[in-house]
Amino acid sequence: MQTLQYILSPKEAHEAEQKWRVVKRSVDARQRELKVHLTVLTDDEGKPIAKDAPIPLYTPPVFQDVHNVSRSAVIIGAGPAGLFAALTLIEHGIKPIIYERGKEVSERKKDIALLNRNEGLNPESNYCFGEGGAGTFSDGKLFSRSKKRGNMQRVMELFHFFGAPDTVLYEAHAHIGSDKLPTIIKNMRECILEHGGEIHFETKIESLKEVESQKSKAERQATPIILAIGHSAHDTYRMLAAEGVKLETKGFAMGVRAEHPQELINRLMYHLDEKKDRSAQRQKTASLKDKDTQLIQYVGNASYSLVTQVDGRGVYSFCMCPGGHIVPAGSSAGTCVVNGMSASHRNSPFANSGMVVQINPEDIPGDDPLRGLEYQEALEREAFKQGQAPLNPPIEGGRYTAPAQRLRDFVEGKASKDLPKCSYLPGIVPSRLDQWLPAEIGRRLQQGFRDFDKKYPGFLTNDAVIVGVESRSSSAVRIPRDPETLQSVSTPGLYPCGEGAGYAGGITSSALDGINAANKIAEMA
Ligand SMILES: Cc1cc2nc3c(=O)[nH]c(=O)nc-3n(C[C@H](O)[C@H](O)[C@H](O)COP(=O)(O)OP(=O)(O)OC[C@H]3O[C@@H](n4cnc5c(N)ncnc54)[C@H](O)[C@@H]3O)c2cc1C
Repeated sequence: MQTLQYILSPKEAHEAEQKWRVVKRSVDARQRELKVHLTVLTDDEGKPIAKDAPIPLYTPPVFQDVHNVSRSAVIIGAGPAGLFAALTLIEHGIKPIIYERGKEVSERKKDIALLNRNEGLNPESNYCFGEGGAGTFSDGKLFSRSKKRGNMQRVMELFHFFGAPDTVLYEAHAHIGSDKLPTIIKNMRECILEHGGEIHFETKIESLKEVESQKSKAERQATPIILAIGHSAHDTYRMLAAEGVKLETKGFAMGVRAEHPQELINRLMYHLDEKKDRSAQRQKTASLKDKDTQLIQYVGNASYSLVTQVDGRGVYSFCMCPGGHIVPAGSSAGTCVVNGMSASHRNSPFANSGMVVQINPEDIPGDDPLRGLEYQEALEREAFKQGQAPLNPPIEGGRYTAPAQRLRDFVEGKASKDLPKCSYLPGIVPSRLDQWLPAEIGRRLQQGFRDFDKKYPGFLTNDAVIVGVESRSSSAVRIPRDPETLQSVSTPGLYPCGEGAGYAGGITSSALDGINAANKIAEMA
């Protein structure tokens, strides 16, 4: 494959993308003038190839018919890890049998709509549980910090095969969007069923022995179990502990979700105010507002990635959603958990991001491997209680209004008399997060926001709001596995994988972990 690399203005890059076959794209917003790095495919004479040319190095998957094969594997959980494991098993000629506690994606949408209208939470069908897992109603960011885990390009190719846009194959920070993801997940399900896999929705596995008893006699010894439960199934972790599966505490992160007007984030990250000064001096005729709008059209709403250290702990932005919404991402009644998502165009007027503090196992007293879960749950219950304050009497397990505070008020320790507009649909209520967040989180977040404001003056503003709590950014439990066989160290034949196993964090790394588990099973003839 021959390529040419260009560093272009956003407008030039936009024009080039309309004409040529792009194989890599990234936006560099570090300098005053934004630059787009484009790599385009060329012919033997070095001329760029037209946009509609076939995508290079793309190997479409070949799925086998597994209706009547003798080998099968059980998969618990139909999130990215479980689905990609199932597809890979089918490529190897092994029949996947999936059990998923939640509903299929179109039914799940209805429960999510009820939750957004603040009409109650279905603990088995919500932003975390159901077909596609936690990644279905998300921003759909498809990138992973780790390059070591395996063939990330394969994950992108499978997403593309099932309907994701071409950009997932070349964009440095590709994303799909929650309007597109459900169709992609449905396409994956149809492929699994068509080739002979099984999917059992609304089937929560409450005991591994139950799975064993469902196997036929012939399968009993041979059928491996891929455990792809995600990190929100606290009840399932407790079941595994009770059944003797080895679990251990791992570090995780907790905090709040911060939401700014997207326009402000665009100004800060794309240096628009600095440009305005210079442009005004030059007295350009074009309206500055129009120029800004054009720039956003070419490169999209700005995102950010922020990190600092406070008292020996990392404080960082997590899962930033430009042009997105804050969503109620809890899975049990009486708890308040928030997260973020966006549609493919990322065009809401809000920019939200998790702002979290690293928590180490030694920060939580005791030696129970599940103590991290208790710590998360305690804060989620407190957030729920704080979010109920104006509802008198509180409605048992029913309302998901979230506690919130203006950002500068939080940092300065003041009550917010009112709150700015916020994308969180169930609604937010003023609350003293500065007072009730545990000091080890609250104090570090306050300093963290001051540090971020030094880097981007204007970030720390009362036009922004923080909403509590962002407690499920990473798994608080690891299910240790043998690095060679990928099987649980305590339970042979059990393949813990994905985010819930503590070996992945995010859609792509979980999907890849599922692929790796399936490949390992295929090797064990
Ligand atoms: C709102 C939101 C936005 C996010 N945005 C992004 C993003 O933009 N980019 C990104 O990379 N990551 C994002 N994430 C994180 C990402 O979704 C997860 O990292 C990823 O989905 C983990 O994949 P998984 O397959 O390991 O687990 P999950 O996706 O959590 O799937 C686990 C599945 O197992 C099922 N299950 C659990 N227990 C049982 C049981 N006992 N029996 C049967 N089924 C069971 C669950 O119902 C669930 O469907 C987001 C998460 C949320 C909640």
